[in-house]
Amino acid sequence: MQPTHIRNIAIIAHVDHGKTTLVDRLLMQSGTIASHRELQDRAMDSNDIERERGITIMSKCTTVEYLARNGQNYGINIVDTPGHADFGGEVERVLKMVDSVLLLVDAFEGPMPQTRFVLRKSLELGLKPIVVINKIDRTDSRPDEVVDLVFDLFVALNAEEDQLDFPIIYASAKMGYAMLELEDDRIDMEPLLEEVVRSVAPPNSDVDKPFCMQVATLAYDPFVGRLAIGRIFDGTISVNSRVSVCSAEGDCRKGKITKLMRFKGLERIDTDRVSAGDIIMLAGLDGILPGDTINLEGRQRYLGGMKIDEPTISMRFMTNTSPFVGKEGKFVTSRQLRERLLRELDADVSLRIKELSNTDSFEVSGRGELHLSILIERMRREGYELGVSRPRVIFKKDEKNNLLEPMETVTVECGNEYSGTVISKLNLRKGTMQAMSPSGSDMTRLEYMIPSRGLIGFRSEFLTDTRGTGVLYANFSHYGAYKGEISKRKNGAIIAQSAGTTTTYALFTLQARGVLFVEPGQKVYGGQIIGQHAKTTDLVVNPTRKKNLTNVRAAGSDQKLLLSPPILPTLESAIEWISDDELVEVTTSSVRIRKLYRDHNERKRMSRKKK
Ligand code: GDP
Repeated sequence: MQPTHIRNIAIIAHVDHGKTTLVDRLLMQSGTIASHRELQDRAMDSNDIERERGITIMSKCTTVEYLARNGQNYGINIVDTPGHADFGGEVERVLKMVDSVLLLVDAFEGPMPQTRFVLRKSLELGLKPIVVINKIDRTDSRPDEVVDLVFDLFVALNAEEDQLDFPIIYASAKMGYAMLELEDDRIDMEPLLEEVVRSVAPPNSDVDKPFCMQVATLAYDPFVGRLAIGRIFDGTISVNSRVSVCSAEGDCRKGKITKLMRFKGLERIDTDRVSAGDIIMLAGLDGILPGDTINLEGRQRYLGGMKIDEPTISMRFMTNTSPFVGKEGKFVTSRQLRERLLRELDADVSLRIKELSNTDSFEVSGRGELHLSILIERMRREGYELGVSRPRVIFKKDEKNNLLEPMETVTVECGNEYSGTVISKLNLRKGTMQAMSPSGSDMTRLEYMIPSRGLIGFRSEFLTDTRGTGVLYANFSHYGAYKGEISKRKNGAIIAQSAGTTTTYALFTLQARGVLFVEPGQKVYGGQIIGQHAKTTDLVVNPTRKKNLTNVRAAGSDQKLLLSPPILPTLESAIEWISDDELVEVTTSSVRIRKLYRDHNERKRMSRKKK
């Protein structure tokens, strides 16, 4: 296909605003896939973790083949963008492959803060978005107001004059129609496809120039290994071609392309030859990284301007050494853990892994707590068991040897009655307020700049403080001057003395001592943390004690023991909660918190040594 007949666009949408449905519809409309059924397992965001967290993690590509009204065939490549700023580098690289973005917005909800980051990046790169107001069929839809909100958002993000003049398409992906004007006939998706062909510039590429492609992102295939995805700037290339790969360091190395793939619908199809303007995937070049530029052998061109995010947070991942090891997961050995982590490196360029000597543990560094917790979540779903330590931020030094630390911008929305508590906590954590404004009725919106260090452990506190009603978005901003000590968790831990099964009887007495993390009937082991002590010291208890049957008590003592519901740890809340001498044990079905040294005497010895 000639570049004139290719359109490359990214799609930006808040979760649930209908991205998957829209892409399905476009594929059906164009006949790329026959029916909805074909899609079921392969939908654009098939990833459960993404759905639960409401963000897209990896970029994906779909190609819609479209026979336009002018009788010509077009290939429309649609790239999904990661929604979170922890993946800012990835977002930027993906956006460099495209010439426009589709901003998909729910006709009732309007634009959401999660899409703000990617939209801002798109505007900064000079892309002219097409706005799609989706779910126009909703009885509560308010398309005109939503268009105004989108306009305001563009203004707030410093959009240029021509970007403010965005084309608008009204759509119902669910019902399968799109319109230029609200009163148009509701027929099919064609108006949207026509708009893409009409208003998105074709790639500025030349098929007749020598081949040149820059890698934007990576993927991994168990059979062929690392795959490089990118847009071909110029020229054409075929399988088995010899190439030279030039990197940011200025060196070029030789290689051979063993596989070329294009996208068709949601599938990848092998192909012999690809040409300028298209977004493609290739295999055969070991160790290739985003930003690398691929040329025909003998040529040495490097297209700069793509950056890879440096890690800001690190955690220790280790084999599970709890007495329950292997009870729930399939993969528990250090070799399996190692292989799994190394495999991840093939597709994730912002991840760093260092083997720690003499221990079965690895220092894993990434773009933030979220980046690492997603990796842990994926591993546990695949059947791995592991222990993880408290995250630490990665410090840097500037030229004058001053200590620098990662800073994040935080946007908080919460009920007015909670804003006082939230503000004082953010201040304690060395945050600086950037803005405060009312947000709808009875809600306050706060913007803060805060050290990443201060955010560790904040999220769970925030949810408790706002009775679960607050919303918090944090985005990495920059490395800034070290802000000084931040106080850590003040409460001690309630620790199980020895192994057994928890009883209602024991937990009933214990609940007065703090907040419990376990339910009755749960198996625990010695050294496992079963709650947060109300005081600052650690407390070793027996949560498995049974009622002494020979103990005759006054009548009425057998009344039902009422337990307050425990706070069962989630992966995130546990990671945020632990101190340096504690670990989170993660398995397929459980998240447990434990002391690093489970033996009570050994622990005391170690803590004395430290002092
Ligand atoms: P995604 O998370 O952005 O990929 O959203 P989905 O495509 O999975 O859609 C989320 C929900 O919104 C699903 O229940 C869809 O059926 C529904 N939905 C999508 N498009 C429309 C639409 O145009 N109108 C209505 N009423 N619902 C829609």
